[in-house]
Amino acid sequence: MTELSKRTKAVHAGIRRSQYGEVAEAMYLTQGFVYETAEDAEARFIQSGDDEFIYARYGNPTVRMFEERIAALEGAEDGFACASGMAAVSGALMSMLRTGDHVVSSRALFGSCHYVLDEVLTRFGVEVTFVDGTDLAAWKAAIRPDTKAVFFESMSNPTLELVDIEAVSKLAHAVDAVVIVDNVFATPVFSDAIAQGADVVVYSATKHIDGQGRVLGGVILGTREFIRKTVEPYMKHTGGSMSPFNAWLLVKGLETMELRVRAQTFSAMRIADALSQNGALTSVIYPGLESHPQHDLAMSQMNAGGTIVAFDCGSKERAFKMLNALEIAVISNNLGDSKSIATPPATTTHQRLREEDRAELGITPGLIRFSVGLEDADDLISDLTAAIGVM
Ligand SMILES: *Cc1c(COP(=O)(O)O)cnc(C)c1O
Repeated sequence: MTELSKRTKAVHAGIRRSQYGEVAEAMYLTQGFVYETAEDAEARFIQSGDDEFIYARYGNPTVRMFEERIAALEGAEDGFACASGMAAVSGALMSMLRTGDHVVSSRALFGSCHYVLDEVLTRFGVEVTFVDGTDLAAWKAAIRPDTKAVFFESMSNPTLELVDIEAVSKLAHAVDAVVIVDNVFATPVFSDAIAQGADVVVYSATKHIDGQGRVLGGVILGTREFIRKTVEPYMKHTGGSMSPFNAWLLVKGLETMELRVRAQTFSAMRIADALSQNGALTSVIYPGLESHPQHDLAMSQMNAGGTIVAFDCGSKERAFKMLNALEIAVISNNLGDSKSIATPPATTTHQRLREEDRAELGITPGLIRFSVGLEDADDLISDLTAAIGVM
C-alpha cells in the first residue's frame, strides 16, 4: 500500500487490541502492571519490550496508543505523551540542556513558554538569546557555533507571526543545534514540520487534539533515539507523564481532529474576510489573508491560515465592550475548542509580560485572539459584527 494519508492514520494508527478484540480503543486506567514471576519483574526492569509496561509514569497501553498515533500523523519516529503542553515544552528543553549551553529562541512566545526560557533555563545557567522570529538575519546573527538548540512557535500566539521552519532549521543544523518547534497553532493537520527540518515537534494536546475543552495534555515528538534516550528518562523520573484517562480522550480526539480543524479553518477564513471589511477595527491579522505580511510563507509551510484570527479593537475599553457584547463566542483562554473563544491577551494570557515587551510583540491593549469553533460561520460573523458595533 502507498503511504496512508493523515486522516486514515488518525483513525487506525497505534491501535493495541486486547484479547477481546474491542473496536474502540480501551482505556487502561491502571497505574501498575502485574508480573507472572519475580524473574519477569527483574527482566522487565532491565529491558521492557514493546508491549510491556511497568508503571503509568513510565508508560501505559492507552498512553502508548496516543503516542504512536500522533507520531504516525506527524511523521515522527516516536513520541512521549506529557501531562500538559507545558510539561512537553519544558521536558523537551530541560531533558537535553545543561549548564553553559546556549539556546536561541523567537521572542513571540506563549507566556508560559517565555517563562521557561527566560526564567527557568537561565536559572540553571543556560544562556538564551531572543530574536525576532520572522527575521532570518536575526536568527543567523544569534546562532553560534556552540548553540545547542533553537526554539520557536511556528506560528506565534497571539499575533500569528510565522517562523520559516526550513530556513531556520538550515541555519541551526549548520552548527548541529537541535530544532524544537512548538507547533500548536499550525496543528498536526497542517504540519509538515519534520520534513521541513524540525528535529523535535511539541504540541499542547489541550488545544486542537482534544478540541473539546476537556483535558490537558501534551506530546514531544522526534527521533526514536531522542525520545527514548533523552526525553523518556527525564519525563518518567520527573513526573510530567500523561494520565491514561486523558490519553484515552485524546486518542479519540485525534480521530475527528482533521474534520474539526478543516471546518474551523474554513470558518476562520470567512470571519477574517468579513472582519477585514469592518471599518471599526484597527487591524485584522490572519495568515490566510493576502494582507498578512507572511501570507506566502503560510501557504507554502502550512497550506492554510489556521483556526485563529486576531483583531485589534483600538483600545482596552473598546475590546472589553466588544467582549461583553458577544452572545455566542465565550470569553476564555483556551483555543482550538469546538466553542469559539475570544481572548484579550494583554489582560490575560500575556498579562505577566512587561508592558514594553507586550508592545514590542504587538500585543496591544485592544487585541483580541479569536479561536474559531465549530459553530456556523454566518452565526459567528453576525455575533462578532453585532459586538463590534457596540464598542
Ligand atoms: C497552550 C499552549 C501551550 C501550553 O499548553 P498547555 O496544554 O496549556 O500546558 C504551549 N504553547 C502554545 C503555543 C500554546 O498555545
